[in-house]
Amino acid sequence: MIVDEFIENPEPISGFSNPENNWPDYLGLLHLLLIKHGEKKYHMVGDPERAWKNICDLAEKLGLKWRIVTGTHAFDYQKQAISIPQNILDLFDNARNGQPVEELVIAKDDATLDKLGQPVFSHSNTGKILEYSDCCINWFDENKSIGWKEVYEFVMGRIENGQTEKEEEIAEMMAQYYESDYVKSSRKRIKKIVVNHIAESRNTMPFIFFQPCDACIGPSSPTRKLNDRYANFAKEKFPQLYQKIIDEGKKDAKAFE
Ligand SMILES: [Zn+2]
Repeated sequence: MIVDEFIENPEPISGFSNPENNWPDYLGLLHLLLIKHGEKKYHMVGDPERAWKNICDLAEKLGLKWRIVTGTHAFDYQKQAISIPQNILDLFDNARNGQPVEELVIAKDDATLDKLGQPVFSHSNTGKILEYSDCCINWFDENKSIGWKEVYEFVMGRIENGQTEKEEEIAEMMAQYYESDYVKSSRKRIKKIVVNHIAESRNTMPFIFFQPCDACIGPSSPTRKLNDRYANFAKEKFPQLYQKIIDEGKKDAKAFE
């Protein structure tokens, strides 16, 4: 009943929700159902917070528990060939590590939520909490780190033109331009990810929320297996929702191609 009603009248319940199609919302519902049936432990919803009330209402209707969990930030960085000087990395570490951060988390019961304690919400740890494939977590983290290298080179290029040399200002500029359109190398890299990984996964692995890594966009990868597991669950128990996720996933892919 709840599922049928939501299929008829979907609401934005995801950080990815958009007016163009309901893929993120149907998939959000499926992930709540996976939790309800013990197939998955946690679901998290990032910004925008406008989705929070809707998903909390839906979670309650399904008999699930939600909590705004306070954890801490951590700066994930994997060393690159052209590495950023340690004193600049330290500035990022010091600014972010241990800073409180709140995330909306949904689980089957309070005991499962209690188990989280006060987690570290870094890219890699959040990926672990949400049971993403390890290879894809590493790949995502590496991409984020390459982004820091690219923005460092970009900022240093500007400094050669007579701007600041203070490391605080370098770090500030890096944060400001990180993965922005101004950084040409980032633009190219992100475009490739959008086409090869995001559009690809919406088309062929629409039952997962995360970006599959280089290996996982290939056949019989850990992420394809995970996608198939979620897909089979949907097909067997909620066939209408299964079809919606496939159809809307294809629509979402078009927006990225
Ligand atoms: Zn992978």
